[in-house]
Amino acid sequence: MGNQKEIIALSDQYLMRTYGRLPLALVRGQGLNVWDADGKRYLDFVSGLAVDSLGHCHPRVVAAIQNQASQFMHCSNLYHIEPQARLARLLVENSALDRVFFCNSGAEAIEAAIKLARKYAKKKHGPERYEIISAYNSFHGRTLAAITATGQTKYQQGLEPLPEGFRYVFFNDLDSLRSAIGPHTAGILLEPIQGEGGVNVADQKYLQGVRRLCDEHGLLLILDEVQCGLGRTGRLFAYEHFGVTPDIMTLAKALGGGFPIGAMLATEEVASGFAPGDHASTFGGNPLACAAGLAAVQTIIEINLVRQCERVGTYFLRRLREMQDRYGFIKEVRGKGLLLGMELTIKAGGIVTRCRERGLLINCIGDYTLRFIPPLIVTEADVDAALDVLRAALDEESEG
Ligand SMILES: *Cc1c(COP(=O)(O)O)cnc(C)c1O
Repeated sequence: MGNQKEIIALSDQYLMRTYGRLPLALVRGQGLNVWDADGKRYLDFVSGLAVDSLGHCHPRVVAAIQNQASQFMHCSNLYHIEPQARLARLLVENSALDRVFFCNSGAEAIEAAIKLARKYAKKKHGPERYEIISAYNSFHGRTLAAITATGQTKYQQGLEPLPEGFRYVFFNDLDSLRSAIGPHTAGILLEPIQGEGGVNVADQKYLQGVRRLCDEHGLLLILDEVQCGLGRTGRLFAYEHFGVTPDIMTLAKALGGGFPIGAMLATEEVASGFAPGDHASTFGGNPLACAAGLAAVQTIIEINLVRQCERVGTYFLRRLREMQDRYGFIKEVRGKGLLLGMELTIKAGGIVTRCRERGLLINCIGDYTLRFIPPLIVTEADVDAALDVLRAALDEESEG
């Protein structure tokens, strides 16, 4: 294994330049900690972007993967796959949805949701119903359809022509949505909490209003819980905060406990929009990914991680808000559970660097917002340790 400098040089020479990577090569993780190739340890409040909710290398996930890998790693969806069916049952029994399609990522789950929404709406209401309305500042992934559903032009530039049948509304603005609904509308796609777009929490009244508009106009409510789902907001699914249920829901990030897997869930009625042959994925729902997912979701439920996340998240939010008194450049602290953002009036990148130098990984979204998405296994003491580092970084920043 190379040292950090060697790994970075190799990476810079051979990989496509799709990422603006930080000068850090991580090689090992355990619980809340990760280590770089030179042996330095970091407290990880990024969690592989809300993936490692159980911390790194959770023993139950590791054991499930090891067992399944030695028994049967891949099986085509030409056949029935037990771990896939069992993971589907677990998700259905714990959500408001009835059927599951498995894929390999969040973008693929969104792609599946868009296809199902079109299929269902055309069958139910006629061929003119195909349009998906989504929100500005949303993020739904990087495939051509998912990036078109993403209401941020910066990600779309240079990719034109984009697929047709998408339009955008302002988040948390019911009037904007009402006036966008037309004869072509099939469904409304929203994140209950916009993650990548700045940790923007939907108002309860807004989401309830969206649900009502969907019911009035025969539209599908598609909730993207790829980032906020599976416990991160202090509920197993974020929609539970709002007193609404979706017709279609997408999951990915935390679903596999670190292993790649995505899922698209729908009600029985809406799932009827797909017939055999309408959608497929070679790797989707393979035994290895589903064994990992089964272990991850079972563990999240059995150790009551959702309750812990709510408790520690509430504490973390309060402590972050208290910091507003001391640092004038903190504009707002927002979020739910352990999906928290701190918007600054100064650029946030320098603070991320200062935290990293002091052994804490956080990230920033856009130029001004710090995001905190630690593993859900963090305790108040871990949060205190992270806050000590953050305070030191902010002090340094205010001194210039
Ligand atoms: C990360 C994310 C996606 C895309 O997931 P990928 O696995 O990167 O394709 C989609 N929706 C939301 C809300 C996300 O946070």
